[in-house]
Amino acid sequence: MDSVAVRLAMVNKIAAQGVTDPRVLSAMGAVERHRFVDSALAIQAYEDTSLPIGLGQTISKPGVVARMIALLLQVHPGKPQRLLEIGTGCGYQAAVLAQVAQEVFSMERLRGLHDKARDNLRPMRLANLHLILGDGMLGYPKGAPYSGIIAAAGGQDVPQAWIDQLAPGGRLVAPVVVPGQSTAQALMVVDKTPQGVTQTMLEAVHFVPLKSGIV
Ligand code: SAH
Repeated sequence: MDSVAVRLAMVNKIAAQGVTDPRVLSAMGAVERHRFVDSALAIQAYEDTSLPIGLGQTISKPGVVARMIALLLQVHPGKPQRLLEIGTGCGYQAAVLAQVAQEVFSMERLRGLHDKARDNLRPMRLANLHLILGDGMLGYPKGAPYSGIIAAAGGQDVPQAWIDQLAPGGRLVAPVVVPGQSTAQALMVVDKTPQGVTQTMLEAVHFVPLKSGIV
């Protein structure tokens, strides 16, 4: 598949949606999203849509991936030192994150997807990306503190472990269930500032549920 032109069109659409950070746009332009989905779905890989990746999970919409990474980078003028991703899935977002940060730790609770991500990512040889099979609700203390934490699955709340593992000046971006609603989710931004921890709710999103334990 000659994907350069379609990928450029995807990046232009993302820019038109309001993501202007050149670090994000160039990372989205660099990662070949069609390599992270089944070949039968490759033709749809550059549409702004989520797609099935097996085990009931989905690869996130590129527009949302770009939006969340842009939010994460807003508080970091340069290359953030260490990022934690919860929900490796097929490894797509992890590959994008590895373009914009010095080091990335990505956790997945489903062994089948952890293995699939490893296979998908192997040809890219990203020495700064570490895949971890584990329950992301506990975070990954070995890599902490993190300049940024990004979740690709939504829970009722942001686990305290994530906030504890966030570095001062760091930012966390995660989908959470809107209080009082059973399924509706919104993006939550948590900043660790010298004045304390602040939380901001942003737009509605649709992510797979955050679950505990390893399967
Ligand atoms: N970033 C991924 C999105 C995958 S969907 C991509 O680019 O494809 C979200 C993933 O989060 C699913 O694979 C799901 O298994 C995983 N997940 C849900 N709860 C988790 C947890 N507690 N720890 C780690 N991964 C989790």
